[in-house]
Amino acid sequence: MEKRLAPAPETYEQVTDLFDLDADWSSEQQAIAGRVRKMVDEHFLPIIGQHHNDETYPESILPRIRELGLLELVADDAIDPITYGLISRELDRGGSTLRSLVSVQGSLVMGAIKMFGSEAQKQQWLGPLGRLEQFGCFGLTEPDYGSNPAGMQTRAERTADGYRITGSKCWITNGVRASVAVIWAKLDGQVRGFLVETDRPGFEARHMHGKWSFRASETASLYLDGVEVPETALLPGATSLGRALQCLGQARYTIAWGACGAARGCLEETVKYLKERTQFEGKPLASHQIIQYKLAWMAAEITAMELIAKRLGELKAQGRMKPHHVALAKMNNCRKALEVARTCRELLGANGIHNEYHIGRRMVDLETVVTYEGTEHIHALTLGSTITGIKAFS
Ligand SMILES: Cc1cc2nc3c(=O)[nH]c(=O)nc-3n(C[C@H](O)[C@H](O)[C@H](O)COP(=O)(O)OP(=O)(O)OC[C@H]3O[C@@H](n4cnc5c(N)ncnc54)[C@H](O)[C@@H]3O)c2cc1C
Repeated sequence: MEKRLAPAPETYEQVTDLFDLDADWSSEQQAIAGRVRKMVDEHFLPIIGQHHNDETYPESILPRIRELGLLELVADDAIDPITYGLISRELDRGGSTLRSLVSVQGSLVMGAIKMFGSEAQKQQWLGPLGRLEQFGCFGLTEPDYGSNPAGMQTRAERTADGYRITGSKCWITNGVRASVAVIWAKLDGQVRGFLVETDRPGFEARHMHGKWSFRASETASLYLDGVEVPETALLPGATSLGRALQCLGQARYTIAWGACGAARGCLEETVKYLKERTQFEGKPLASHQIIQYKLAWMAAEITAMELIAKRLGELKAQGRMKPHHVALAKMNNCRKALEVARTCRELLGANGIHNEYHIGRRMVDLETVVTYEGTEHIHALTLGSTITGIKAFS
């Protein structure tokens, strides 16, 4: 029986799993996580720096994700929350853009269809989305309504045989390559979800260029100019904004785990670097006291993040995961991952800003992760409301 996630670098346990947490997972969970880790090491890390530089999409990783069948596992409900968490952690160790690719498709798009779709919608979309033959995107954010999606301006009106949708969405991951968009729009004043095929007349997706974070992820603005969809495009169970937030809850779960992976990746790379690089009388940087203090601080933070993710997974597995649990995990783990990445960047000196190393990319990508799917402030307000009983935002 496998004892640890494979393949394990020599220092893996000492560096990022000081509390031996991975040993708690079943051999099957460890094996899946190990396969993802191997895929990331062999096929993603070698290519992602160039894609980040060039602002291009890492197409060659798609067959690898297909081979592992990760999204088919999601489509078939064949994985438990901890396994999904471990997969997210290992993907994000490669890059938050990679984890995002899987969690937008799996949790936001397939999640919306699974939770709120009709049988016919599930039959039509889940297979092709799970095999990555088709892409989906999730359109909630609008130019003037980000943290407050309740104010959305996108409207649906009834027609003789369906609906006509008008409005715009922005910052939409996978928006350019999606063949189906989950579009949230107000129908008679109520937020509803629609599955909109992106080749319908009046639908346009425009690539947003110029990002300095998430450069290897495609982000789009969507324009819907009176897009006509049939009655069957309405997701029958997507009856309120709360339903959109339920999808986000699933994706935030993967983010909380993913942040652990991003932080692990930074620390692993930094420890290796500090042991090799010497300064002052040929001593390795790793031997200096202030540096060891910072490594210890980061190892403790990563352990705390992992414990939070683990507990979140247990709550989810027991059907007890509440919005404030997710808010705490997303808020804490993203902030801490960013602090770890910045600290690692500093410890690499000038090399910390060079793309020969993955830390700078992880750091700038974490700026997106802190912001999307609910900013740190918004999650803090959710927690504040739970703690005080006083809602500071509506
Ligand atoms: C790379 C990337 C990919 C994305 N992918 C998607 C996607 O696929 N689908 C999608 O729908 N959206 C997506 N988003 C959008 C993302 O969810 C929003 O950017 C996010 O919700 C924040 O909205 P905003 O950018 O409009 O910021 P704003 O809401 O304008 O907030 C700006 C600042 O004000 C603070 N703030 C706002 N209200 C309050 C308040 N009441 N109290 C205290 N502080 C407050 C915020 O915390 C933030 O610091 C993506 C974003 C990025 C960067």
